[in-house]
Amino acid sequence: MSAATLLELSGLSAGYGGPDVVHDIDLSVSEGEIVTLLGANGAGKTTVLRAISGAVRSTGTVSWAGSPLRGRPDERARSGLGHVPQGRGTLTQLTVAENLWVGGARLGPRRRREAVDSWFETFPRLRERAEQTAGNLSGGEQQMLALARALISEPRLVLLDEPSLGLAPLITQEVFERLREINARLGTALLVVEQNAAASLALADRAYVLGSGHIIRHGAADELIDDDELRRAYLGA
Ligand code: ATP
Repeated sequence: MSAATLLELSGLSAGYGGPDVVHDIDLSVSEGEIVTLLGANGAGKTTVLRAISGAVRSTGTVSWAGSPLRGRPDERARSGLGHVPQGRGTLTQLTVAENLWVGGARLGPRRRREAVDSWFETFPRLRERAEQTAGNLSGGEQQMLALARALISEPRLVLLDEPSLGLAPLITQEVFERLREINARLGTALLVVEQNAAASLALADRAYVLGSGHIIRHGAADELIDDDELRRAYLGA
C-alpha cells in the first residue's frame, strides 16, 4: 500500500504583491517521502516553500493530511510543518543549547530535555559546542543546528531551503547523509529545494523541476537523474 498524501498543492500561485512569481503549481509529498524541488536561480523555489509555510500570500489550495492548511507560519508549524529557511534560521545570539531548547518549546519539560540530549547524540559536534553562540559556528555546524532545531519538535514534514548552500562538498555529503538517516529513523517527510541537483536527486524519491515559475517536469528521482535533456537545460550539467 502506498503512503498517504501529507502535503498537496493544487493550482498554487504566489508572489510578493506584484505579478505572481510562481504559477499554478501542483505538487504533493506523502508521509515519510523525500521530494526535491529543483530549478535555476530565480525560478521560484523559495517562493513555493514560503507559500507552503504561510510567509507569502498565495492562491489555490495547500492541503495538509486532507484538510486546508491556513493561517500564520507559527500556526502551520503547530500542525507539524517545519521550515529551515535559506540562510539557516538559527538564533545567532543564543548558544547552541539555547537554540535547541527554544526549538523544543512545544514539548513538555521532561520530553524537551530528552529531545535536546538525543539531538546532541545525533550531532556530537553540536554537543562539543553547546555553550558557543550559534553565530560563531561554521557553515556546516549552523546547518546541522538549523536541522536539529527544526526537527526537535517532531514535525511530520520539513521544508529545507538549499541545505547545501555555502557548504564544502564533504560537509554537504555529511548533511545529506544525516537527512537520509533522520528520514529513515523518524519517518519525517522532507521537501528539499536545491541547486545541487545531483546530491538532492540521489537523496529523493521524487523530484519536480521549476522553470520560470512553472512546474516543467516531475517524476521519480532515479529517472530524472538520467535525463540528459534535463541535465543540460536546467541542472547545469
Ligand atoms: P534562488 O535559487 O536564487 O534562491 P529561487 O528559485 O528560490 O532562486 P525565488 O527566491 O523564489 O527563486 O525568487 C523567484 C522570483 O521572485 C525572483 O524573480 C525574485 O527576484 C522574486 N522575489 C524573491 N523574493 C522577493 C521579495 N521579497 N520581493 C519581491 N520579489 C521577490
